[in-house]
Amino acid sequence: MISVRRRGGTLRARVHHMFADAPDRVLRALARYIARADRRDSALLGGFVEANHWRIRHPRRARRPVLNPIPSGRVHDLAEILGDLNRRYFAGAIDARITWGHRTLRAGHRQSIKMGSYSVEDRLIRIHPALDCPEVPRYFVEWIVFHEMLHQVFDIPTRNGRRQFHTPAFLARERKFEHYEEARHWERRHLDRLLGGS
Ligand SMILES: [Zn+2]
Repeated sequence: MISVRRRGGTLRARVHHMFADAPDRVLRALARYIARADRRDSALLGGFVEANHWRIRHPRRARRPVLNPIPSGRVHDLAEILGDLNRRYFAGAIDARITWGHRTLRAGHRQSIKMGSYSVEDRLIRIHPALDCPEVPRYFVEWIVFHEMLHQVFDIPTRNGRRQFHTPAFLARERKFEHYEEARHWERRHLDRLLGGS
């Protein structure tokens, strides 16, 4: 956090970058602490370091909005489903978090509603909260989660200027899901009604 070297009559201090935008009060305490190791300054600096601890542990994430995944729903437990699929299909190789998304259904946008999404930067899978109800069978939720997990496995090549999210290899792998046909069938029969909320 703070290291001090004395050379001749000069003190040289290196401090953590969290002090770069510290308030003057803290900087003055820092200077006094380096010169005299005063206990009151030490306490003040300790409080500052404590309050800025997140910058040490997650320096990259600190700039992103805080994510607070909510994986257990009223009916389906996404963390359990993710862990189960990870073991069964990926030998535990998927490194991702999962959460129910926010309810942001907008009338007139039914066709564009995405049941799931995957954020590469956050390694976060979001599942549409409309799926968290007893009418939706577990294998259907599994299928959506499985699809998003595949996005961590497959690259997104650009073909003719367009990003190809679902390559033939991706789609072939997707068909390996145990309940693939059932899930697609269920989707065709039920999803409009489900997302319509009626
Ligand atoms: Zn996809």
